Parts: sequence; C-alpha cells; structure tokens
Amino acid sequence: MAIRPICITGNPVLHTRAGEVVVFDDELKTLVEDMFDTMDKAPGVGLAATQVGIGLRVFVYDYDDDEGNPRRGVVINPSLEIGEIESGEADWDTELEGCLSVPGERFPLKRADWARLTGVDLQQNPVAIESTGWFARIFQHEYDHLDGTLYVDKLAEPHFSDAKEIIEENGWGEDGLTWLPGKDHLED
Ligand code: ZN
Repeated sequence: MAIRPICITGNPVLHTRAGEVVVFDDELKTLVEDMFDTMDKAPGVGLAATQVGIGLRVFVYDYDDDEGNPRRGVVINPSLEIGEIESGEADWDTELEGCLSVPGERFPLKRADWARLTGVDLQQNPVAIESTGWFARIFQHEYDHLDGTLYVDKLAEPHFSDAKEIIEENGWGEDGLTWLPGKDHLED
C-alpha cells in the first residue's frame, strides 16, 4: 500500500494526452493498487494515472451508481461514448464539480447525463459500463484527464476566468507542485 503525491494543475503530465498501456506487468498492477489507495485517502471518487504523474491511460473510480449500488473499479485504455450535453448554464447546486488536481475548489460544469465506458481491466478482460447522472460525470471527468484536459479547462464564463484567477492566487499553474493525501490537508 502506498499513497502517491497528487499533481496539482501546472504539471505538464496533467496537460498532455496520456499514452496507451501496452505492457500489463507488475508495475502496472502496483500503479493501480497505489491509485486506489491514493483515491481512498484523498478522499476522491475517481483518480487518473496522470494525477499521480504517470502518463498512461488508466483511471480508477469508486462511487454509488444511480441505483445506489457501490461501483469500484479500474479501466485501462478506455473509450467513452457520451450523450448530448444540454445547453444552458450549469447549476451551482447540482452540477458543481471538483478535482484533486485543483484541490479545494469547485465550479459548475455541464456534462452529458449518460456515458458508456469501455476498455479493459488489469487482467485485460473487457470492461463495459453504462452510467447516468453523477456516475456518468465521474467517467467524463476521469476520461478527460487522460486526454490532458482538466474540468477547469472546460468551464463556461465567468467560471473559466474565476478558476484561472484562483489557480494563480494559489500559486499553482507551475511544474512540480503536488500534495500528499493524509499529510497535506487539501482534500476537496
Ligand atoms: Zn480530476
């Protein structure tokens, strides 16, 4: 068990498209175990490999789906099909998103209400999960990480500018900044 430091926005790995996993070895298994530990400790409902500084297409999640069933897993080399994103302003109460790489901040963002995630697990068995609501939002958020996109990059104005300002005020947006769950109290 190991908690890994979480990269804060500004680390190039967070802003670069992650590469496909080609080798399914013990190193990958350890990465995934550490990602679960780090997500749990943060605490968070999802974590992408890029957030622990590894540019690979892997994310973990832990959330109760819309039927209240606990869902916890890993997906490697995922594809994501999403439904339509409704137009209009994002809601401050129901669409408020956060990210462990922009710790402690939250902004409203429109997402699709439906998403279908496919990929493989550590044993290279197929993963296929249909999701709605917040579970679908988590998949969209984590999938974006693998393409080098943070949710703050996608915000509508004035939230986009507000987020940019807060990131500057916090002294973020530079390479090499991290926080350690369980040690630094920056959880969101
Ligand atoms: Zn995130």
